[in-house]
Amino acid sequence: GKVLVSGANGYVAVWVVRTLLEHGFSVRGAVRSGDKGTHLTELFAPYGDKFEVVIVPDITVDGAFDEAVKGVDAIEHTASPFHHQADDPAELLEPAIKGTVGILESARKHGASVKRVVVTSSCAAIMNISPTPQVLSEADWNDQAVLQVEEKGRAASNGAKYQASKTLAERAAWDFVKKYKDEIGWDVSVMNPPLVVGPVIHAVASPDSLNTSCRLMYGAYTRPEASAGGGSWIDVRDLALAHVRALQKEEAGGERIIITAGAFAWQDWRAYLYSSMRHLFHKFLANMLPPIFVILYAHPTDTLPHAVDAAPPSSKYLKGTPGAGKDHVHLLRFKNDKSIRILGMEYRSMKDTAADTIADYEKRGW
Ligand code: NDP
Repeated sequence: GKVLVSGANGYVAVWVVRTLLEHGFSVRGAVRSGDKGTHLTELFAPYGDKFEVVIVPDITVDGAFDEAVKGVDAIEHTASPFHHQADDPAELLEPAIKGTVGILESARKHGASVKRVVVTSSCAAIMNISPTPQVLSEADWNDQAVLQVEEKGRAASNGAKYQASKTLAERAAWDFVKKYKDEIGWDVSVMNPPLVVGPVIHAVASPDSLNTSCRLMYGAYTRPEASAGGGSWIDVRDLALAHVRALQKEEAGGERIIITAGAFAWQDWRAYLYSSMRHLFHKFLANMLPPIFVILYAHPTDTLPHAVDAAPPSSKYLKGTPGAGKDHVHLLRFKNDKSIRILGMEYRSMKDTAADTIADYEKRGW
Protein backbone atom coordinates (compact mmCIF):
# COMPACT_ATOMS: atom_id res chain seq x y z
CA GLY A 1 0.00 0.00 0.00
CA LYS A 2 0.86 3.66 -0.28
CA VAL A 3 1.16 5.91 2.77
CA LEU A 4 1.05 9.71 2.97
CA VAL A 5 3.41 11.02 5.68
CA SER A 6 2.93 14.68 6.64
CA GLY A 7 5.89 16.72 7.92
CA ALA A 8 8.07 14.09 6.22
CA ASN A 9 11.33 16.02 6.74
CA GLY A 10 11.01 16.04 10.56
CA TYR A 11 13.14 14.03 12.98
CA VAL A 12 10.50 11.41 13.77
CA ALA A 13 8.97 11.41 10.29
CA VAL A 14 12.14 10.55 8.34
CA TRP A 15 12.48 7.44 10.51
CA VAL A 16 8.78 6.68 9.94
CA VAL A 17 9.28 6.98 6.16
CA ARG A 18 12.37 4.80 6.24
CA THR A 19 10.67 2.12 8.36
CA LEU A 20 7.60 2.12 6.09
CA LEU A 21 9.83 1.66 3.03
CA GLU A 22 11.74 -1.14 4.78
CA HIS A 23 8.41 -2.87 5.40
CA GLY A 24 7.48 -2.70 1.72
CA PHE A 25 5.14 0.29 1.76
CA SER A 26 5.29 3.07 -0.84
CA VAL A 27 5.51 6.54 0.67
CA ARG A 28 4.37 10.00 -0.37
CA GLY A 29 6.15 12.48 1.89
CA ALA A 30 4.53 15.91 2.35
CA VAL A 31 6.89 18.83 3.04
CA ARG A 32 6.41 22.61 3.04
CA SER A 33 8.80 23.45 0.18
CA GLY A 34 10.87 21.84 -2.55
CA ASP A 35 14.20 22.35 -0.80
CA LYS A 36 12.90 20.48 2.27
CA GLY A 37 12.36 17.46 0.02
CA THR A 38 15.89 17.35 -1.41
CA HIS A 39 17.50 15.44 1.46
CA LEU A 40 14.61 12.94 1.44
CA THR A 41 14.84 12.34 -2.30
CA GLU A 42 18.56 11.66 -1.94
CA LEU A 43 18.20 9.51 1.18
CA PHE A 44 15.46 7.34 -0.29
CA ALA A 45 16.78 7.19 -3.87
CA PRO A 46 17.53 3.45 -3.47
CA TYR A 47 13.76 2.87 -3.18
CA GLY A 48 13.17 4.30 -6.67
CA ASP A 49 9.56 5.23 -7.39
CA LYS A 50 8.41 3.79 -4.06
CA PHE A 51 9.16 7.21 -2.55
CA GLU A 52 7.81 10.55 -3.77
CA VAL A 53 7.58 14.07 -2.41
CA VAL A 54 4.51 16.29 -2.45
CA ILE A 55 4.58 19.98 -1.51
CA VAL A 56 1.95 21.26 0.93
CA PRO A 57 3.03 24.86 1.62
CA ASP A 58 0.61 25.67 4.45
CA ILE A 59 -1.16 22.95 6.44
CA THR A 60 -3.53 25.49 8.05
CA VAL A 61 -5.23 26.36 4.75
CA ASP A 62 -8.59 24.67 4.03
CA GLY A 63 -8.16 21.75 1.66
CA ALA A 64 -4.35 21.85 1.99
CA PHE A 65 -4.09 18.04 1.72
CA ASP A 66 -6.90 17.52 -0.84
CA GLU A 67 -4.50 16.48 -3.61
CA ALA A 68 -1.99 14.73 -1.34
CA VAL A 69 -4.51 12.22 0.05
CA LYS A 70 -5.65 11.01 -3.35
CA GLY A 71 -4.74 7.39 -4.04
CA VAL A 72 -3.15 6.60 -0.66
CA ASP A 73 -4.20 3.68 1.55
CA ALA A 74 -3.16 5.26 4.83
CA ILE A 75 -1.92 8.49 6.37
CA GLU A 76 0.68 9.15 9.07
CA HIS A 77 0.11 12.71 10.31
CA THR A 78 3.27 13.83 12.11
CA ALA A 79 3.49 17.53 11.10
CA SER A 80 3.12 19.79 14.14
CA PRO A 81 5.37 22.45 15.65
CA PHE A 82 7.45 21.25 18.60
CA HIS A 83 9.36 24.13 20.15
CA HIS A 84 9.27 26.27 23.27
CA GLN A 85 9.71 29.70 21.67
CA ALA A 86 6.12 30.72 20.98
CA ASP A 87 4.94 33.98 22.53
CA ASP A 88 1.39 33.78 21.19
CA PRO A 89 0.06 30.26 21.91
CA ALA A 90 -1.75 30.38 18.55
CA GLU A 91 1.64 29.89 16.86
CA LEU A 92 1.52 26.31 18.15
CA LEU A 93 -2.22 25.72 18.51
CA GLU A 94 -3.24 26.72 15.00
CA PRO A 95 -0.96 24.49 12.94
CA ALA A 96 -1.44 21.64 15.44
CA ILE A 97 -5.25 21.74 15.43
CA LYS A 98 -5.95 22.99 11.92
CA GLY A 99 -3.29 20.70 10.46
CA THR A 100 -4.88 17.68 12.13
CA VAL A 101 -8.49 18.53 11.34
CA GLY A 102 -7.48 19.62 7.84
CA ILE A 103 -5.79 16.36 6.89
CA LEU A 104 -8.78 14.40 8.26
CA GLU A 105 -11.17 16.64 6.29
CA SER A 106 -9.16 16.05 3.12
CA ALA A 107 -9.24 12.29 3.81
CA ARG A 108 -13.02 12.46 4.30
CA LYS A 109 -13.60 14.28 1.04
CA HIS A 110 -10.87 12.95 -1.24
CA GLY A 111 -9.32 9.92 0.43
CA ALA A 112 -11.54 7.25 -1.12
CA SER A 113 -8.87 4.55 -0.67
CA VAL A 114 -7.77 5.54 2.86
CA LYS A 115 -8.22 2.78 5.47
CA ARG A 116 -6.43 4.23 8.49
CA VAL A 117 -5.01 7.53 9.72
CA VAL A 118 -2.27 7.44 12.36
CA VAL A 119 -1.89 10.69 14.27
CA THR A 120 1.36 11.46 16.11
CA SER A 121 0.16 12.93 19.39
CA SER A 122 2.31 12.94 22.52
CA CYS A 123 2.52 12.15 26.21
CA ALA A 124 2.19 15.94 26.39
CA ALA A 125 -1.51 15.29 25.73
CA ILE A 126 -1.65 12.89 28.70
CA MET A 127 0.67 14.28 31.37
CA ASN A 128 -0.55 16.02 34.51
CA ILE A 129 1.77 17.49 37.06
CA SER A 130 1.07 16.63 40.65
CA PRO A 131 3.29 16.87 43.75
CA THR A 132 3.19 13.12 44.35
CA PRO A 133 4.56 10.38 42.05
CA GLN A 134 1.97 8.90 39.69
CA VAL A 135 1.70 6.49 36.79
CA LEU A 136 -0.47 7.68 33.92
CA SER A 137 -2.25 5.69 31.22
CA GLU A 138 -4.20 6.26 28.02
CA ALA A 139 -7.19 7.18 30.20
CA ASP A 140 -5.52 10.42 31.25
CA TRP A 141 -5.73 13.79 29.48
CA ASN A 142 -3.67 16.93 30.02
CA ASP A 143 -6.46 19.35 30.88
CA GLN A 144 -4.06 21.36 33.07
CA ALA A 145 -2.13 22.77 30.14
CA VAL A 146 -5.28 23.64 28.20
CA LEU A 147 -6.69 25.44 31.22
CA GLN A 148 -3.46 27.33 31.78
CA VAL A 149 -3.37 28.55 28.18
CA GLU A 150 -7.05 29.51 28.32
CA GLU A 151 -6.50 31.48 31.51
CA LYS A 152 -3.09 33.03 30.87
CA GLY A 153 -2.70 33.20 27.09
CA ARG A 154 0.76 34.55 26.24
CA ALA A 155 1.75 34.42 29.92
CA ALA A 156 1.26 30.64 30.06
CA SER A 157 4.46 28.62 30.36
CA ASN A 158 6.18 27.54 27.14
CA GLY A 159 5.68 23.93 28.12
CA ALA A 160 1.95 24.45 28.64
CA LYS A 161 1.58 26.09 25.22
CA TYR A 162 3.10 23.09 23.45
CA GLN A 163 1.22 20.59 25.62
CA ALA A 164 -2.07 22.39 24.98
CA SER A 165 -1.41 22.27 21.22
CA LYS A 166 -0.98 18.49 21.35
CA THR A 167 -3.95 17.93 23.69
CA LEU A 168 -6.33 20.04 21.63
CA ALA A 169 -5.13 18.59 18.32
CA GLU A 170 -5.64 15.03 19.54
CA ARG A 171 -9.06 15.87 21.00
CA ALA A 172 -10.02 17.42 17.67
CA ALA A 173 -9.05 14.20 15.88
CA TRP A 174 -11.24 12.04 18.13
CA ASP A 175 -14.12 14.54 17.85
CA PHE A 176 -13.80 14.44 14.06
CA VAL A 177 -14.02 10.65 13.93
CA LYS A 178 -17.03 10.66 16.24
CA LYS A 179 -18.82 13.26 14.15
CA TYR A 180 -18.22 11.60 10.77
CA LYS A 181 -17.99 7.91 11.72
CA ASP A 182 -20.93 6.97 9.50
CA GLU A 183 -19.48 8.49 6.35
CA ILE A 184 -15.76 7.72 6.55
CA GLY A 185 -14.24 4.45 5.43
CA TRP A 186 -11.25 4.72 7.75
CA ASP A 187 -10.42 4.89 11.44
CA VAL A 188 -7.82 6.70 13.53
CA SER A 189 -5.00 5.37 15.68
CA VAL A 190 -3.05 7.76 17.90
CA MET A 191 0.57 7.38 19.00
CA ASN A 192 1.50 9.05 22.32
CA PRO A 193 5.28 9.15 22.75
CA PRO A 194 7.22 11.04 25.45
CA LEU A 195 10.66 12.54 24.67
CA VAL A 196 11.99 11.02 21.45
CA VAL A 197 15.75 10.39 21.26
CA GLY A 198 18.27 8.36 19.26
CA PRO A 199 20.22 8.73 16.02
CA VAL A 200 19.37 11.42 13.50
CA ILE A 201 18.74 10.84 9.78
CA HIS A 202 16.95 14.07 8.85
CA ALA A 203 18.83 17.07 7.47
CA VAL A 204 20.72 18.74 10.36
CA ALA A 205 23.66 21.08 9.78
CA SER A 206 24.84 21.41 13.38
CA PRO A 207 23.80 20.54 16.95
CA ASP A 208 22.24 24.03 17.25
CA SER A 209 19.73 23.23 14.53
CA LEU A 210 18.66 19.90 16.02
CA ASN A 211 14.95 19.37 16.70
CA THR A 212 13.84 20.08 20.27
CA SER A 213 14.15 16.60 21.80
CA CYS A 214 17.56 15.83 20.29
CA ARG A 215 18.82 19.25 21.31
CA LEU A 216 17.86 18.46 24.90
CA MET A 217 19.76 15.17 24.68
CA TYR A 218 22.84 16.79 23.18
CA GLY A 219 22.69 19.51 25.84
CA ALA A 220 22.57 16.94 28.62
CA TYR A 221 26.13 15.95 28.00
CA THR A 222 27.63 19.16 26.68
CA ARG A 223 26.07 21.81 28.93
CA PRO A 224 26.74 21.61 32.70
CA GLU A 225 23.50 23.40 33.56
CA ALA A 226 21.40 20.74 31.82
CA SER A 227 22.06 18.03 34.38
CA ALA A 228 19.01 18.07 36.64
CA GLY A 229 15.65 16.42 36.25
CA GLY A 230 14.36 13.67 34.04
CA GLY A 231 11.37 12.44 32.07
CA SER A 232 10.21 9.52 29.98
CA TRP A 233 11.71 8.49 26.66
CA ILE A 234 11.39 6.46 23.49
CA ASP A 235 13.97 5.56 20.86
CA VAL A 236 12.98 7.16 17.56
CA ARG A 237 13.40 3.83 15.74
CA ASP A 238 10.97 2.09 18.09
CA LEU A 239 8.51 4.95 17.66
CA ALA A 240 8.82 4.65 13.89
CA LEU A 241 8.13 0.92 14.11
CA ALA A 242 5.07 1.65 16.26
CA HIS A 243 3.78 3.94 13.48
CA VAL A 244 4.14 1.05 10.99
CA ARG A 245 2.54 -1.52 13.31
CA ALA A 246 -0.35 0.91 13.89
CA LEU A 247 -1.14 0.44 10.18
CA GLN A 248 -0.70 -3.32 10.26
CA LYS A 249 -2.68 -4.20 13.39
CA GLU A 250 -6.43 -4.03 12.99
CA GLU A 251 -6.86 -3.67 16.80
CA ALA A 252 -4.94 -0.38 16.79
CA GLY A 253 -7.95 1.35 15.19
CA GLY A 254 -9.81 3.69 17.52
CA GLU A 255 -7.05 3.52 20.14
CA ARG A 256 -4.61 6.01 21.62
CA ILE A 257 -1.44 4.19 22.58
CA ILE A 258 1.46 5.32 24.79
CA ILE A 259 4.80 4.43 23.18
CA THR A 260 7.55 4.58 25.79
CA ALA A 261 10.55 2.55 26.95
CA GLY A 262 10.38 4.08 30.43
CA ALA A 263 11.58 6.88 32.66
CA PHE A 264 15.04 8.47 32.81
CA ALA A 265 17.07 10.97 34.81
CA TRP A 266 19.36 13.07 32.62
CA GLN A 267 22.26 11.81 34.67
CA ASP A 268 21.39 8.24 33.56
CA TRP A 269 21.91 9.27 29.94
CA ARG A 270 25.24 10.76 30.83
CA ALA A 271 26.29 7.55 32.53
CA TYR A 272 25.27 5.46 29.51
CA LEU A 273 26.66 7.91 26.99
CA TYR A 274 29.89 7.92 28.86
CA SER A 275 30.17 4.17 29.17
CA SER A 276 29.31 3.69 25.49
CA MET A 277 31.92 6.28 24.59
CA ARG A 278 34.44 4.27 26.59
CA HIS A 279 33.31 1.20 24.70
CA LEU A 280 33.94 2.99 21.37
CA PHE A 281 37.35 4.07 22.66
CA HIS A 282 38.21 0.48 23.55
CA LYS A 283 37.16 -0.65 20.10
CA PHE A 284 39.26 2.09 18.55
CA LEU A 285 42.31 1.08 20.59
CA ALA A 286 41.79 -2.58 19.78
CA ASN A 287 41.96 -1.72 16.09
CA MET A 288 45.09 0.39 16.47
CA LEU A 289 47.23 -1.69 18.81
CA PRO A 290 49.27 -4.83 18.12
CA PRO A 291 47.42 -8.07 18.94
CA ILE A 292 49.04 -8.53 22.35
CA PHE A 293 47.35 -5.35 23.59
CA VAL A 294 44.06 -6.45 22.12
CA ILE A 295 44.29 -9.48 24.39
CA LEU A 296 44.94 -7.12 27.29
CA TYR A 297 41.89 -5.10 26.37
CA ALA A 298 39.80 -8.21 26.11
CA HIS A 299 40.80 -8.96 29.71
CA PRO A 300 40.97 -5.53 31.27
CA THR A 301 42.66 -5.21 34.62
CA ASP A 302 41.11 -3.30 37.49
CA THR A 303 43.01 -0.15 36.75
CA LEU A 304 42.25 0.05 33.05
CA PRO A 305 38.74 1.51 33.11
CA HIS A 306 39.92 4.33 35.35
CA ALA A 307 42.79 5.11 33.03
CA VAL A 308 40.37 5.28 30.10
CA ASP A 309 37.91 7.31 32.16
CA ALA A 310 40.57 9.91 32.73
CA ALA A 311 41.22 10.32 29.03
CA PRO A 312 38.02 10.15 26.99
CA PRO A 313 38.39 10.72 23.23
CA SER A 314 36.12 13.78 23.31
CA SER A 315 36.64 15.74 26.50
CA LYS A 316 33.69 18.03 25.70
CA TYR A 317 31.31 15.35 26.95
CA LEU A 318 30.35 15.82 30.56
CA LYS A 319 30.16 13.10 33.14
CA GLY A 320 27.86 15.05 35.43
CA THR A 321 27.63 13.67 38.93
CA PRO A 322 28.02 9.89 38.65
CA GLY A 323 25.31 8.06 40.57
CA ALA A 324 23.07 11.12 40.98
CA GLY A 325 20.47 9.62 38.62
CA LYS A 326 19.27 7.11 41.16
CA ASP A 327 18.28 9.92 43.54
CA HIS A 328 15.93 11.46 41.00
CA VAL A 329 12.27 11.26 42.03
CA HIS A 330 10.08 10.45 39.01
CA LEU A 331 6.82 12.32 39.60
CA LEU A 332 5.49 11.03 36.30
CA ARG A 333 5.66 7.64 34.69
CA PHE A 334 3.65 6.30 31.77
CA LYS A 335 2.27 2.80 31.29
CA ASN A 336 3.31 0.99 28.12
CA ASP A 337 1.44 -2.32 28.46
CA LYS A 338 -1.12 -1.35 25.82
CA SER A 339 1.62 -0.83 23.22
CA ILE A 340 3.04 -4.26 24.02
CA ARG A 341 -0.38 -5.92 23.85
CA ILE A 342 -1.70 -4.24 20.69
CA LEU A 343 1.44 -3.40 18.73
CA GLY A 344 3.75 -6.12 20.06
CA MET A 345 6.35 -3.54 20.96
CA GLU A 346 9.74 -4.58 22.34
CA TYR A 347 11.68 -1.58 23.54
CA ARG A 348 15.35 -0.81 23.11
CA SER A 349 17.39 -0.34 26.27
CA MET A 350 18.87 3.00 27.35
CA LYS A 351 22.28 1.43 26.92
CA ASP A 352 21.69 0.60 23.24
CA THR A 353 20.06 3.92 22.45
CA ALA A 354 22.88 5.80 24.16
CA ALA A 355 25.54 3.81 22.30
CA ASP A 356 23.89 4.40 18.91
CA THR A 357 23.32 8.08 19.66
CA ILE A 358 26.91 8.74 20.68
CA ALA A 359 28.18 6.79 17.66
CA ASP A 360 26.01 9.02 15.45
CA TYR A 361 27.31 12.21 17.08
CA GLU A 362 30.93 11.03 16.82
CA LYS A 363 30.43 10.19 13.14
CA ARG A 364 29.20 13.74 12.55
CA GLY A 365 32.12 15.23 14.44
CA TRP A 366 29.83 16.83 17.04
P1 NDP B 1 10.58 18.19 14.06
O1 NDP B 1 10.64 19.62 14.43
O2 NDP B 1 11.84 17.51 13.66
O3 NDP B 1 9.52 17.98 12.92
C1 NDP B 1 8.30 18.67 12.90
C2 NDP B 1 7.66 18.53 11.53
O4 NDP B 1 6.42 19.24 11.54
C3 NDP B 1 8.51 19.12 10.42
O5 NDP B 1 8.30 18.42 9.23
C4 NDP B 1 7.95 20.53 10.31
O6 NDP B 1 8.11 21.11 9.02
C5 NDP B 1 6.48 20.27 10.57
N1 NDP B 1 5.88 21.52 11.05
C6 NDP B 1 6.16 22.19 12.18
N2 NDP B 1 5.44 23.30 12.26
C7 NDP B 1 4.68 23.35 11.14
C8 NDP B 1 3.74 24.28 10.64
N3 NDP B 1 3.42 25.39 11.31
N4 NDP B 1 3.18 24.02 9.45
C9 NDP B 1 3.51 22.91 8.76
N5 NDP B 1 4.39 22.00 9.18
C10 NDP B 1 4.97 22.21 10.37
O7 NDP B 1 9.93 17.48 15.32
P2 NDP B 1 9.67 15.97 15.68
O8 NDP B 1 10.05 15.08 14.58
O9 NDP B 1 10.24 15.76 17.01
O10 NDP B 1 8.08 15.96 15.84
C11 NDP B 1 7.24 15.22 15.00
C12 NDP B 1 5.93 14.96 15.70
O11 NDP B 1 6.17 14.17 16.86
C13 NDP B 1 5.20 16.20 16.17
O12 NDP B 1 3.82 15.99 15.99
C14 NDP B 1 5.53 16.27 17.65
O13 NDP B 1 4.56 16.96 18.38
C15 NDP B 1 5.54 14.78 17.98
N6 NDP B 1 6.28 14.46 19.18
C16 NDP B 1 7.63 14.64 19.24
C17 NDP B 1 8.33 14.35 20.40
C18 NDP B 1 9.79 14.50 20.51
O14 NDP B 1 10.32 14.37 21.61
N7 NDP B 1 10.51 14.76 19.43
C19 NDP B 1 7.61 13.84 21.59
C20 NDP B 1 6.21 13.64 21.40
C21 NDP B 1 5.58 13.93 20.24
P3 NDP B 1 9.27 22.23 8.75
O15 NDP B 1 10.57 21.49 8.77
O16 NDP B 1 8.91 22.77 7.44
O17 NDP B 1 9.15 23.22 9.87
